[in-house]
Amino acid sequence: MWAALMYGAGDVRVENVPDPVLQQPTDAIVRVVRTCICGSDLHPYHSMPAAGHGTAMGHEFIGAVEQLGSQVPGFKRGDLVVASFAYQDNTCEFCREGLQTSCPSGGFFSEAQAEAVRVPQAAGTLVKLPAGEDSALLPSLLTLADVYGTGYHAAKRANVNPRTTVTVIGDGAVGLLAVLSARQLGAEQIILMGRHNARTDLGRGFGATDVVAERASEGIERVRELTGGNGTHAVLEAVGYKNAYQTALGVVRPGGVISRVGVPQYGEAPIGFDSLFGPNLTLTGGPAPVRAYIDELLPGVLDGTVQPGKVFDRTIRLEETPDGYRAMDSREALKVLIQP
Ligand SMILES: [Zn+2]
Repeated sequence: MWAALMYGAGDVRVENVPDPVLQQPTDAIVRVVRTCICGSDLHPYHSMPAAGHGTAMGHEFIGAVEQLGSQVPGFKRGDLVVASFAYQDNTCEFCREGLQTSCPSGGFFSEAQAEAVRVPQAAGTLVKLPAGEDSALLPSLLTLADVYGTGYHAAKRANVNPRTTVTVIGDGAVGLLAVLSARQLGAEQIILMGRHNARTDLGRGFGATDVVAERASEGIERVRELTGGNGTHAVLEAVGYKNAYQTALGVVRPGGVISRVGVPQYGEAPIGFDSLFGPNLTLTGGPAPVRAYIDELLPGVLDGTVQPGKVFDRTIRLEETPDGYRAMDSREALKVLIQP
C-alpha cells in the first residue's frame, strides 16, 4: 500500500510499504477513507533529525473495516468507523474514568496517512458511524478523531459553563474547535486570540464574541480591557509554545483555570507565587481522551447542529501529502484533508 513517511524535517515522501496485518486477536485492519494532517505533525516537520529511513505519520482517520481479529465484537467487514487518535481497551479503570489516554493497554496511532491502518484494541477504539463513504459529513466526522475532541477536552478540563468567560489562545483547528466547544458548553463571552483573518472569521462563526489579534503584552492588555480588567475564568491554550503559556498567565482571572491542549514544546515555565500560586490558578490539560467524547459529540455532527469539518480548507490525494505538509507549514492551509 501507499503511505506517507517522514525522513526528517521538511522531508515527507509517499512510498510503497507492506500492507498492515492482524497481529493480535484484538486488532482490526481498516481501509482509510479519509485522513488528515495535524498541527502536531508540524513539530517533527520542523525538528526531526534526518534519517536513512522514513517514519510513518498521521493519527486521524475514518475508514472501512476490512479484517477483524477474533476478539473484536460488535463490528463487521465494511462498517464505516472513526478511531480516536489514541487506542485503548475502553474497559479498564482509567478508561471508565474518561481518561483513555492513560489506558495501560493503550497507545497512540502514527501511521494513519496511508491506505490502511492496523487498529490495536479495536473494540475499544473504533466507533461505528451511521454514514456512507460518500457522506458530505465525512470532514466533520473526521474531526472526532482528534481536533474536535481535543478542543472539547480543553473546555471540559477548564469547567466551561454558562457562567464562565473564556479566552482561547491559538487560531489553528484545535483552537477554533475549542471556541465551538466553549459555545456548546454555554460560555457567553469567548475571546479568540489569533491574527489570521480567515481563521478568526471562522472562529466568530463557531461562537467567538471577540477577536484579539495583538500578541504578548499588547494582547494581554486587550483581553483585560474586554473583561473589566480581570481576565477570563478559563484560558484554553491550543498552541504549545512557552509564549502562549505566558499569555495564558496574563489573561487568566484570579481563581481561574489554564487548560492546555497544545503539546508543550517546553519543559520549564513559571509556577511560583507571582504566576500560579498567588492568584490561586489551576493548571490542567493534556493529551485528550477523545474516545470519552465521541458518543457525546457525534449526534450534533450527524444532525448538522455543528459543522466542525469547516476547519478543513484543502483536500488532496495521498500522493500529494508532501504538498499538504508544506501548505500547512506555510499557513496557506488551515487543515488539510487527505483522500487516499
Ligand atoms: Zn483502558
